[in-house]
Amino acid sequence: MPLEEDLLPNDKNFHMSLAEFRRHGHAVVDWIADYYKEVESYPVLSRAKPGEIRASLPATPPVVGESFETILQDVDKLILPGITHWQSPNFFAYFPSNTSGASILADLISSGLGVQGMLWATSPACTELETHVLDWLVSMLDLPTKFLSSSSGGGVIQDTASSASLCALLAARERATNFGSNKRGCDGKLVAYASSQAHSAIEKNVQIAGLGRENLRFIEADPNFAMNPSALSERIRQDRAAGLTPFFVSATVGTTSSNAIDPLAQIGPICRDNKLWLHVDAAMSGTAALCPEFRHIHHGIEFADSYCFNPHKWMFTNFDCDCFYVADRKALIQTLSVMPEFLRNQATASGDVFDYRDWQIPLGRRFRSLKLWFVIRHYGIEGLQYHIRRHVELAQQFAKWVRDDERFELAAPAPLNLVCFRHIGGDEANQQLVDRLNHSGDLYVTHTRLNNRMTLRFCIGQTNTERRHVERAWKRIQEEAEKIGSGS
Ligand code: PLP
Repeated sequence: MPLEEDLLPNDKNFHMSLAEFRRHGHAVVDWIADYYKEVESYPVLSRAKPGEIRASLPATPPVVGESFETILQDVDKLILPGITHWQSPNFFAYFPSNTSGASILADLISSGLGVQGMLWATSPACTELETHVLDWLVSMLDLPTKFLSSSSGGGVIQDTASSASLCALLAARERATNFGSNKRGCDGKLVAYASSQAHSAIEKNVQIAGLGRENLRFIEADPNFAMNPSALSERIRQDRAAGLTPFFVSATVGTTSSNAIDPLAQIGPICRDNKLWLHVDAAMSGTAALCPEFRHIHHGIEFADSYCFNPHKWMFTNFDCDCFYVADRKALIQTLSVMPEFLRNQATASGDVFDYRDWQIPLGRRFRSLKLWFVIRHYGIEGLQYHIRRHVELAQQFAKWVRDDERFELAAPAPLNLVCFRHIGGDEANQQLVDRLNHSGDLYVTHTRLNNRMTLRFCIGQTNTERRHVERAWKRIQEEAEKIGSGS
C-alpha cells in the first residue's frame, strides 16, 4: 500500500493507498460494531431461496474498479440477506462457532501481516507463539504433560477437527505399519473403530486415508449414547481372530448429536493392551475443561495418543482454529514430512525448530495463534471460565424448564451446554415445531435422531447469549407447541 506521495510521476497503480486503507479500515470496524449491535434483531436463519443471492449479483466482473463505499454498501444490500447469523445470541443450532472482539481484531492483524508460517524460518514468531500458546492450553485444560512441546509431544493448530483426526489417523496408520503404508500403500487389513455416534469426519477420513470404509467399525453406544467399551473390546478380538489389524480408535468427548462422553478411562486400557492409537475428539466440549468442575469429561485422557478441541466452536476464537495434540510428535512428523530442495534451510537442518508444515496436510499456514493469544490475554483464564460456566448454567436452566413441562421430554443427559429434547407428540409434531421456530426467525435450532426419534438440539454457546435470550427462546418454543397442540 503505497503512500500517494511516495509515487513517482509515471508510477501507475490501482492499490488502496495507506490513507484510504486507514479510512476504510475504520469504516469496516464501525460496520462490524454496528452489525453486532443489530444482529439479534435479524432473522437468525437466512430466508434466501436457492440461487437468490447469485441472481442479485452482476453477471460479469467490473472492468473498472469501484469505490470502497459502494462495495461496503453492497454487503448490506446483497450479502446480509444470505447470511445465517451464527453470531446472533439467538443462535442455538448445531454447535456454536463463536468469536469475540479480541479474536476478530487479532485475525485482522494476522491478515495485515500476511505471514505464511509453513516453516519456522518463514516467520519464527508464527511458529514460536503457536508452540507457546498451545503449551499454555495444556495447563489451562489440565491435559497430560506428554502433550507439551517440552516433552515427547506437542500441539499444533489445524483448520478443523476433521483435519486433526485425519492427521491422527495417518500417523496411527504409519505407526502400525512401521511407516510402510506411506511407501507401498495400504493392504486393506487395518481396522479403525469409533462409536456409532462419532462425527462423520471419521468416516470421511478413513476413506481419504485409503483404509477403506468397510474397515471402519461403528461400535454400539450405551443408553446414554456413549461408546460401549465391552463391545469395542469384543469387536477388536473378532477382527484379530479374522486376521485383520486393529490400529486406531477415535473416542468422542461431547458427541455432535447428544454431547455424550465416551468413557476414556475404560477405552484407554483396551487401546493400550491392544497397541491401538487412541484419538480423542473433544471438538466442542473440550473447552469446558477450562473449569475444574467439568474436567471429569477428560477422565482417562492420559491414555490418549492424540487429542483435539476447537477454540473456534466455544472458546470465543473465530473460525478456523482447532488445537491438535500428539503424545509422540516424531510419529506425526515422520508420517507427514517430505523435504523438497526449495524448503531446505539452516534452521530446519539444525533440528532446533518446529516446522509446522510437517504437522499438517497443507504446506501453507496462516498466523492463527495470534487470535488465540489475544483471546487468552483479553479474557484471562478467569474470564473464559466465567462465560463457559454461564453457558452451562443457562443450558441446565433450560433443561429444567423442559423437564417441568409435561408436553416435552429430555432425550438424552445434558452434561454441559447442549439440551436434546422433544415434544411428546411424535416426529411430525417435532418437525413442525422446528420448522415453525426457524421460519419465525426468532431463533435457530437444529435436530438429530436419537433412538430413531426426531429430537431437537438446543446448544448454548454463542458469545453474547444471555438469560433473556434463553427465556425468550423457551417462551417461543412453548407458544409454537401450543399451536401444534391446538392444530392451528
Ligand atoms: N467432531 C465433533 C465431535 C464435532 O461436533 C464436529 C463438528 O461439529 C467435528 C468433529 C467437525 O468439526 P470441524 O468442522 O472442526 O471439522
